[in-house]
Amino acid sequence: MTLLDGQCLCGQCRLSGEGPALKAVHCQCTDCQKLSGAGHKVNVIVAKGSVHLTGPVTTFKSTADSGNENSRTFCANCGTQMLRTNSGMPDVAIIHAGTLNNPANVTPSAVIWNKSAVVWDYCDPKLPVFPEAPT
Ligand SMILES: [Zn+2]
Ligand SMILES: [Zn+2]
Repeated sequence: MTLLDGQCLCGQCRLSGEGPALKAVHCQCTDCQKLSGAGHKVNVIVAKGSVHLTGPVTTFKSTADSGNENSRTFCANCGTQMLRTNSGMPDVAIIHAGTLNNPANVTPSAVIWNKSAVVWDYCDPKLPVFPEAPT
């Protein structure tokens, strides 16, 4: 088992990661609120191509305010979000800490998109906070 092995709720979709995570962040953007049904999502950023996904999937695409295309891949059976890419970040993909077999293998290092945070959402106050995505 590698650091970034994971699976969906029903077990039909499986992630296998070759490399370490580049970074993990708490993201409080409104998309992550919708996707998680919570105040933020823990996004794990990996090199594109370093994580392999198997199983039945469906993909939802949308255009961000920036004009970039966001692509989100879900388990077609249970709906768990498995993988996300953004045309503005062609070298990376995003997976979600909660889908990992061992979520404690990643450590969030920042809070991003804090300008859209919900007042009741709580993140580690020791982490650096950015109003949007840091450049
Ligand atoms: Zn599933
Ligand atoms: Zn987000």
